[in-house]
Amino acid sequence: MLHIALTGGIGSGKSTVASMFGQHGAPVIDADEIARDLVRRDEPAYHETVRAFGTGILDTNREIDRQRLGERIFSDASERRILEGIIHPRVRQEIIARTTLASFPYCIIVVPLLLEANMQDLADRILVIECSEQLQIARVRTRSSLSEERIRRIMATQASSAERRLMADDVIVNDTDLADLQRQVDRLHGQYLALAALTRPPSA
Ligand code: ATP
Repeated sequence: MLHIALTGGIGSGKSTVASMFGQHGAPVIDADEIARDLVRRDEPAYHETVRAFGTGILDTNREIDRQRLGERIFSDASERRILEGIIHPRVRQEIIARTTLASFPYCIIVVPLLLEANMQDLADRILVIECSEQLQIARVRTRSSLSEERIRRIMATQASSAERRLMADDVIVNDTDLADLQRQVDRLHGQYLALAALTRPPSA
């Protein structure tokens, strides 16, 4: 199976593109979703995170308050690295486990922080989705209550589009409408099927 890592900045369109590939039948593995599940109450990474950051990050149900934890790590790079040290190795393990189970010519692994987490080696190809900063901010703001200042702070912690381009095997430019995005996904779907057929080992 061909492993395609899908990455891009906040609000660039990763989830939208992933669901378009999903409609073609491709299994979609989402690193953010895995990371969220890992720190649910009483999961092993939950205890490690609370030990590292204190009970001040918990809400009244003793679940980790992601907003509060987010405030801490986006304003302090050393705290961000501590959290990454707890989460990233487990996310990597889970991605590998899920790709082993999937059966389709290719799978899509959505890893927003692919470069930052050094997970490029999990992929046969890297698909980068890009859009202008203004569109990123506008799209995130229509979807959430994050302020422009907060979105810009998050963008500052992420790889730049130039850094992503350097790693990209394929690029989707998401600067226009959803119909154009769909056309780009359909074209790549065809290419990935063809590539997977070329790389499939001959059957015994
Ligand atoms: P995040 O990094 O925050 O998880 P993301 O990269 O997964 O975001 P999406 O959630 O797919 O981005 O897209 C952000 C918002 O922009 C969504 O509301 C989505 O519907 C919208 N959107 C994405 N692409 C387009 C497009 N080409 N035209 C119009 N709206 C779009």
